[in-house]
Amino acid sequence: MTQTSEERNAVAARLRDGGIARNVKEAYTLILSCVGIRPQLPAETTYTDAMARLADLIDPTCKPVVDDVHGMDDELVCSECGCFLAIVVDGKPSEPLYRYCPVCGARVVSDDE
Ligand SMILES: [Zn+2]
Repeated sequence: MTQTSEERNAVAARLRDGGIARNVKEAYTLILSCVGIRPQLPAETTYTDAMARLADLIDPTCKPVVDDVHGMDDELVCSECGCFLAIVVDGKPSEPLYRYCPVCGARVVSDDE
């Protein structure tokens, strides 16, 4: 899922406001809460969600997908915002894809990344 700048700004503000943690478990719970993950202990149940959430906030990504919404099977669109990315010719994009989506700003990755 692509994170918006507003969402990233809100998470950054919550992290900067911080809170009080008296030990590692409380600090972990506080960080989870700030990034929008419902804290659940033991940590083993939430750390992968937390890591994925932080990665998405730091490096939002999207994928070029066939435009099924509009029935345009010869067009690739952004998986997150749906903007046009490229025309498909012989099963491949007709030109190099953007490194970043021009609309949502997510880094464009392919399935093999
Ligand atoms: Zn996009």
